[in-house]
Amino acid sequence: MTHRNGPRGPMTTAIHAGEAPDTATGASAPALHMSSTFVTDQVAGFSAHDLEEDNSAYLYARWGNPTVDMLEKKIAAMEGVDACLCTASGMAAASAIFFTFLSAGDHAVMSDVSYAGVAELARDTLPRWGIEVTLVDMSDLNAVAAAIRPNTKLVHTESPVNPIGRLTDLAAVARLAHDAGALVSCDATFASPIGQKTAALGVDLIMHSVTKYIGGHGDAVGGAVAGRAELIAQIRAEAAIHHGGIMSPFNAWMIARGAATLPLRMRAHAEGAQAVAEWLEAQSSVTRVIYPGLKSHPQHDLAQLQMDNYSGMISFQVGDAATGEALAQQMIEKLQTIHYAVSLGHHRSLIFWMGTDALMDTSFRLEGAQLESYRAYAGDGVFRMSVGLEDAVDLIADLSQVL
Ligand code: PLP
Repeated sequence: MTHRNGPRGPMTTAIHAGEAPDTATGASAPALHMSSTFVTDQVAGFSAHDLEEDNSAYLYARWGNPTVDMLEKKIAAMEGVDACLCTASGMAAASAIFFTFLSAGDHAVMSDVSYAGVAELARDTLPRWGIEVTLVDMSDLNAVAAAIRPNTKLVHTESPVNPIGRLTDLAAVARLAHDAGALVSCDATFASPIGQKTAALGVDLIMHSVTKYIGGHGDAVGGAVAGRAELIAQIRAEAAIHHGGIMSPFNAWMIARGAATLPLRMRAHAEGAQAVAEWLEAQSSVTRVIYPGLKSHPQHDLAQLQMDNYSGMISFQVGDAATGEALAQQMIEKLQTIHYAVSLGHHRSLIFWMGTDALMDTSFRLEGAQLESYRAYAGDGVFRMSVGLEDAVDLIADLSQVL
């Protein structure tokens, strides 16, 4: 976003991008337009193919809605790209990318570890539609290069990756993909638009579960894909207008309110996570802590190069699976501040046990070197902790009851 004095800062962008005082009422806060249809002067054009290039004239909610549009402009500006499509969930955003840019006979290279839902979509659903998928450890650039084929249309990664915090060298992977004429997409949910400049690193399509950091308060589910206008227009025609997984205006309005404070919250998430990670590393019962902001993270150098904020996601181990499961049970019974629950990026801290064997059976099904790489980060299982915005001293006091 530019201003008469040049680009606006990230805090100003998060607050003002996509918004303007209402010209009719002077309302300073954005309106919530709960309208599914819009009175129009267009006499024809009831097809996704008639979508206006700039999406400025509203017709029907699956094409666009002013409140959703406001959030889309805000996320696009935060990511430093032209356009964004908001979707009903993060999974709808992943599906939007895959089903817009992949067809039967195409090949995709995808991260062998990702959010479990995306992993299952890649392994089970895409092949049913005739799309070949090669799963690679995206931290191994030779493996990425070796996996690319003449019919590779998409390279999809996630950095930092859920649930183990492994990073992808996004600039290097983008170069490999672009040399082969493929698009690159990245699930940047863990980093948020503040944690890394994903588009500047060469990624074409940036995906978020906005249920997480961007919304930030654990009260609204949504997704987003941001990128160049021509790519987002294709996704809007396929995923929104035809597949129909659009975001509701109410969720957009809630999520935009959260997004306005994202830079401030990310600073506090990272500060809290650094303090908790350092404390965890000093506990004798904790055998391994993975946090990009720790010097002990195997890719700390890459984290320093690629990330502007290390975000709030920590993974830690306490020994074998039985020890992890017993500790999880204690957490369920004893934690008072931290919620034992899935999800992440909320102002409330959340923690959840993820056993390696169980995840291998259900979602990742890794073997050989890929399984070894996973175990190098996760051992027999990790506690995935999403450090919220509470005082770090209170989070540490809560954890000390069980560790
Ligand atoms: N991507 C990541 C990294 C996630 O953690 C999640 C959910 O946990 C998703 C995608 C899916 O998002 P949603 O639950 O909004 O569909």
